[in-house]
Amino acid sequence: MAARAGSARPYWLWYASAMAVLVVATPFLRPAALRGAAGLGSAAVVIAALAWGIRAHRPRYTLAWRLLLASSVYTVVSNVLWPLLTSPSGTDVFYYTTYPLFGAALAVLPVQGRRHLWSSGYTEAGIIAGGAAVVWWTLLVDPLVTDPGRLPDQPHVAVFPLLDVLLFALALRLLLLGGVRSVAYVLIALTTFTLLTADTAYFVAVVAGGGAPLVSSVCWVLANGLLGTAALHPSMAVTQPAPTDAEVLEGLGSTRIYIVTVVATPIITGVYLLHEVAADAVAAADIIVPVGATAVTSALVVTRMRQINQVARRRAVALQASLTRQEELQSELRHQAQHDSLTGLPNRDLLYERITAALAAERTGALIVADLDGFKEINDRFGHAVGDELLLAVAGRLLDLVPDGSMLARLDSDEFAVVVQDLDDAACTRLAERFLSATREPFTVQVHELFATVSLGLRELDPDLLTGDVLRDAYLALHAAKAAGRDQLTRWAPALSEEKLAVSRTVERLRGAIERDELVVHYQPLVRLADERMTGVEALIRWQPPGEPMIPPDKFIAAAEDSGLIVPIGTWVLHRACEVVAGWQRHGHPVAASVNVSPRQLREPDFAALVLDALRTSGLPPASLILEITEGVLVASGAVTEQTIRHLQTLRARGVRVAIDDFGTGYSSLAYLRDLPIDHVKIDKSFMPADAGDPALRAMVKAIVDLAAGLRLGTIAEGVETAGQAAFLRELGCERAQGYYYSRPVPEAEVLAAFLGHKSVL
Ligand code: C2E
Ligand code: MG
Ligand code: MG
Repeated sequence: MAARAGSARPYWLWYASAMAVLVVATPFLRPAALRGAAGLGSAAVVIAALAWGIRAHRPRYTLAWRLLLASSVYTVVSNVLWPLLTSPSGTDVFYYTTYPLFGAALAVLPVQGRRHLWSSGYTEAGIIAGGAAVVWWTLLVDPLVTDPGRLPDQPHVAVFPLLDVLLFALALRLLLLGGVRSVAYVLIALTTFTLLTADTAYFVAVVAGGGAPLVSSVCWVLANGLLGTAALHPSMAVTQPAPTDAEVLEGLGSTRIYIVTVVATPIITGVYLLHEVAADAVAAADIIVPVGATAVTSALVVTRMRQINQVARRRAVALQASLTRQEELQSELRHQAQHDSLTGLPNRDLLYERITAALAAERTGALIVADLDGFKEINDRFGHAVGDELLLAVAGRLLDLVPDGSMLARLDSDEFAVVVQDLDDAACTRLAERFLSATREPFTVQVHELFATVSLGLRELDPDLLTGDVLRDAYLALHAAKAAGRDQLTRWAPALSEEKLAVSRTVERLRGAIERDELVVHYQPLVRLADERMTGVEALIRWQPPGEPMIPPDKFIAAAEDSGLIVPIGTWVLHRACEVVAGWQRHGHPVAASVNVSPRQLREPDFAALVLDALRTSGLPPASLILEITEGVLVASGAVTEQTIRHLQTLRARGVRVAIDDFGTGYSSLAYLRDLPIDHVKIDKSFMPADAGDPALRAMVKAIVDLAAGLRLGTIAEGVETAGQAAFLRELGCERAQGYYYSRPVPEAEVLAAFLGHKSVL
């Protein structure tokens, strides 16, 4: 609508300009009747302007504009009829009719499309109009009306001022309703004020016994100019968005206007009354009218205060409601931030708070951390939905056992923790044992029956500790429980911390050792049992700190694995062994290199590439390399194992061979021997029977050798220390052997010397 109106040609401007010329010309029109004609003519033009405006701008709400049109028609008709009528009161009927029409238009205009404003603005307009009315009455009307000798035959003329006050109030309201103000509204308010000025001047002139004064004539033309411009202005069709009650009330003029009105009115009245008293001309109306008007104004002021109060109260209620909602949201957010979304249990943060509070209050009790055994495998095998349900079921079983006043929290994916309070050591241990037996029962999740035991670490609460220390100790105990074979409870003990400390120290020293080149590789021959010739060597690492005894791998491999240092160390051993054995081969000694590989190395995505690189740079043929891995690496399922298998497949495709080291000590599963990418089985030295012969061990070794033969896997016996053992293995058909009987692991130079015939290593 606004765009349409904005693009219309500015007829309103042409109209306003023409009317401005007429206003300026009016005082110069002679004779006086011509001025009357100008007034009447402009009134007729207004009718056309209003009719045209309504048609052209098509306002959505037309009632007010039609009322204005009707009032203009009435004005013209009454003016035309005036000279024809004999009774002056006849024309007055027309005049009186104009007032309600015009007044109704003023009242309706700002409310159309905004019904909730129908009663707004009256109080404020009433206060200002009331004040103005008192001044007007006191200074203008009263001296004329009540003074004896004035208006003897036309007392009804006094009705006009009263109606004028009402119109004045309505026009004021149009301006005061700030949220809805527009150019058209302002022009209409100005029209009203101009008309009132004209009426007042006319009234004064009539009372004074004269005809229509010049001011009135000019004002009438001006009023017609303003009203017509309003009707033609595009803003007449624009309905602004409805403001709220509170916005309207706030926009209704500044408090200052009301204070000035309320204070100034009685002062002026008082001064005037004093003047009347002094002149001994006090009449009843001199007191009744101003006092009455002041009373009405005061009543309106009180009403406005009440309205403001109500709005303030409504706002306070709304504010309170939004504050309450905000508090609810905050506590919801706090709850979310401190709870686990899957189980709804408190999370690590809340657990931390609880431990801190328990320590501060010097409560007895313990922290028990629980980790599900084999959860990763279940997740990988059955999917995350099953994994989640299992976690919920485990949480439920634990929660059933947690005593009042204690807290069960979820720490990480399959880690839970319980802060037990006000229980002694023995009771805490009993509780932990109940956790163990509760989780030993199988869980039914969807169609699966799952076994998911837990490993537990327990640390009793000690007020001398910090929260972080309690957690650290409980985790140490948990790791010990896992290492000891899972599904059990380990209580924290100082030895655990010392052990951990020793590992950390070893890691630190080991780092330095790598930098200082203190690691060396020794080689232990592998012998073909049939002819006792050396077919290869196993590379075994040692740590040789200067001036100190040599440190065997058992003392530092675990720490290296723990810290990840095994990755660079393992790579170094691989390169070293390949280079050394390739050198021997170049000297005509066709031996193979066996290199131990840690599970940690196999988790590296570039492991296969690394091995191929070592082969390439050393020139060792892939068929001369045997990688020794432990069973555990292959048995577990999941993404990591899949990657391990891919690495091994890649390497075997190039000719590299794979041996299972320490066979029989891990989670031996016969199935994987058939399915997985391996070439040899190394029977662990713990199976090697003493010469006298433990029949059970002999049977086991025989079973392994037979099984491997059936699967076309080579067999290597470890830990052969005697001729008797060698003979026994040969008898069984075991392919190769390794052990002190043939040679201890020795430095590279000693193997080379043996090759050269200076010293036998065989
Ligand atoms: P392993 O791979 O099973 O190595 C064989 C171990 O048995 C060696 O111990 C060897 O000295 C020992 N041994 C050999 N013959 C006999 C015997 O007749 N009697 C007895 N009692 N023992 C014998 P070592 O060198 O102390 O190595 C221990 C373990 O450390 C190795 O066991 C291997 O698992 C690991 N290891 C050694 N070097 C490396 C390496 O470079 N990388 C990785 N990841 N692990 C290594
Ligand atoms: Mg080995
Ligand atoms: Mg071994």
